[in-house]
Amino acid sequence: MPDLLTLPPSVIAIDGPAASGKSTVGENLAGRLGFLYFDTGAMYRAVTHAALTRGTPIDDAAAMAVLANALDIDILPATVPDGRQYTVVVDGDDVTWAMRSAEVDAHVSAVSAIAPVREAMVRQQRRVADKGRVVMVGRDIGTVVFPEAPLKVYLDASPEERARRRYRELLDRRQPADYEAILENVRLRDAVDSEREASPLRAAPDAVPINTEGLSVEEVVAVIVQLAGQRLGLALQPE
Ligand code: C5P
Repeated sequence: MPDLLTLPPSVIAIDGPAASGKSTVGENLAGRLGFLYFDTGAMYRAVTHAALTRGTPIDDAAAMAVLANALDIDILPATVPDGRQYTVVVDGDDVTWAMRSAEVDAHVSAVSAIAPVREAMVRQQRRVADKGRVVMVGRDIGTVVFPEAPLKVYLDASPEERARRRYRELLDRRQPADYEAILENVRLRDAVDSEREASPLRAAPDAVPINTEGLSVEEVVAVIVQLAGQRLGLALQPE
């Protein structure tokens, strides 16, 4: 079998708005195909969490750029079996759950709208693909990070459906959850993420759109696995 590291990078780009199912689908898909799974939202969350805890003013783009370039963000395989998909370590601290707080939710779109913060993150994201085959999820993977990706998927669902999913996720983790507040945050992030000037959330013209409303994770993954077989020439094992 050829060494995966010597193969040219193959990226499956999965984009879509908040809580459209990207992480669950991305992780399952990567497991099915034996690809690395990489969630770029974690990087923007990590920078936001660092700014909030260190007191860096989020409206100071220059200070935020310095912070984004100085941070050592590591996304590792899960180190604790507590339901996490991966472990995020920032300058030595495990921030995996802390960066999922409502406070980070409320500020992350403002942070990710800062162009030099995005440039710092995109540079690191492109390096991840040097490691081989990767399922990368985010907002701008198909449009900006890897416009040449052989397969791009754009997942979507109504704001209400996405808020319901986030609400259930929080309850499953026994965390406080307020459906109306989540719905408001989903709508606000949709607006800021799609209206920003730097790499707005948008489907690449050649992305395959999938409305995940009413579909199970397995159904969505099955559609993408089939597309991956065709576009990347993968020989797939039956399930
Ligand atoms: O995917 P998740 O909801 O964790 O992403 C958090 C935020 O990070 C998004 O609302 C968006 O503002 C930002 N983001 C981005 N570009 C990406 C991934 C996430 O701007 N590629």
